[in-house]
Amino acid sequence: MVAADGRSTWSLGSMPAYSETWRRFRLGTRLGVVAALLALPLIVLGALALDSPQWAPIGMLVLVVGGALSIVWVALYWRQLAFRCPRCGQYFFYGKLIVGKPFPARSCVNCGLRLFDEA
Ligand SMILES: [Zn+2]
Repeated sequence: MVAADGRSTWSLGSMPAYSETWRRFRLGTRLGVVAALLALPLIVLGALALDSPQWAPIGMLVLVVGGALSIVWVALYWRQLAFRCPRCGQYFFYGKLIVGKPFPARSCVNCGLRLFDEA
C-alpha cells in the first residue's frame, strides 16, 4: 500500500513495513525457478517419448505440462520485472526512461531501497 506522498502505509501489527511485499516477491521468484527447472526436462522427456508409438500419448501429455510450466515461468518472470518498489511505488528495476539496472538489481533504481530492506 502506497500513500499519495509515495510512502508505504502497509502495516500488519508489529510486522516491519515491507515484509509482506518482500515475501510475495520471494514467492514469485521461487515459483518461477521451480517452473523453469521442471519445464525443460518435461519438454525434453515429452519430445523423446513422441518417437515411440507406445509412449507417444504420455509423451504428448508430458509435453503439454512442460509447455504450460514454461508459460507459467515466463508470466512469473514478467511479473517480477514489473515489481513495484514498496517505498516509492515505481518500478523497482526500471527508471522513467525504461533504463534500469540488469535484473536482478539489488536496489530500487528510483529511490535506492535495497532489496529485502525494511523501511
Ligand atoms: Zn523505490
